Amino acid sequence: MPCYVMNGVSICRPTVTDRKLKRLSCPTCKKKRMMWMWFQEWYGWHVTCLGCGEQWQDGEMLERPFMPAWRKKNIERAKKNMTEFKAALAGKGDVKPVEDIQGGGK
Ligand SMILES: [Zn+2]
Repeated sequence: MPCYVMNGVSICRPTVTDRKLKRLSCPTCKKKRMMWMWFQEWYGWHVTCLGCGEQWQDGEMLERPFMPAWRKKNIERAKKNMTEFKAALAGKGDVKPVEDIQGGGK
């Protein structure tokens, strides 16, 4: 579990233990789509459809945010996460494959 200290406050986040790109049936797109997914202790699988940007957490659909272009932003975030993970696997970039690559930290 990665922990950070910011302004004297410790912040710990659950470790991402697995990631994969999988073709699954999307109930929103109503067809099979590529999904970027990662497994995080405490939370289970987090899944993003790369077709429509819909997200699921441990089997439950996440609430749709009240902001413009959220689908596009979710897809971009998932693709960025995927690219960083692939770079880490190839030994490039700052990210280590065994640690959480979501969000900021530090
Ligand atoms: Zn979809």
